[in-house]
Amino acid sequence: VRIEDLDRARVVPGCADRLLATLEAFGFEWDGAIVYQSTRGELYAAALAALAGRDLTFACSCSRRELEREAGYPGTCRRRPPRAGPAAVRFRMGDGPLTFADALQGLCTFERRERGDVVVRRRDGVFSYQLAVVVDDALQNITDVVRGADLLDSTPWQIALQHALGVATPRYAHLPLIVEPSGAKLAKSRRSMPLEASAAGRQLCEALCLLGQEPPAELTLESGRAVLDWVSENWKPQRMRGVREIAARD
Ligand SMILES: [Zn+2]
Repeated sequence: VRIEDLDRARVVPGCADRLLATLEAFGFEWDGAIVYQSTRGELYAAALAALAGRDLTFACSCSRRELEREAGYPGTCRRRPPRAGPAAVRFRMGDGPLTFADALQGLCTFERRERGDVVVRRRDGVFSYQLAVVVDDALQNITDVVRGADLLDSTPWQIALQHALGVATPRYAHLPLIVEPSGAKLAKSRRSMPLEASAAGRQLCEALCLLGQEPPAELTLESGRAVLDWVSENWKPQRMRGVREIAARD
């Protein structure tokens, strides 16, 4: 387990403990000590220094307003000294396509220029999620990354950083997101239910049904652990192939 608490200003006290308790209630277990990103600044600094040593980073003093105009990064600071004052650090993505095979979404190709030079350290000194996650995936020997399709767009940044740092690229599988029937984010609508430890089996079965799996009805009365045991034997990823969004039902 990794707690991604880099942005300490936004960390809600007690949140990590509640998250761990929820994972346990739903039958998940983990090996090794829990990794807190907030304690690993030296590792991220070393990675940043390695990138800078190969001239793969540059300081960027663009304001939010200057960046709003287009997708990606317009390249304003690539070849100019930054303005005085605090600056962000960006990683040079370079040109050309970047292709990877996603276990669920198939072959994905992104233009590096369109994704843009990603921020690796923010103006306020906080290391970016994109850098930290690459460092931690490598150090924790992560072989498979399974996450929501909303993070598909971040994957080319992470793969480019892995190449630059000389670490292995894990396998990726991006699961469809459950969304409102209108396609909007599920957010805090009536269709967005909080997790309830006492209903772990039922809630896991509901999620599995939405993902096209067919857990037997009697499983809804079992523990979260029992549902996970069933799904580890019966998981049918082909039912989600190429699907990025699934509409929630009432
Ligand atoms: Zn800039």
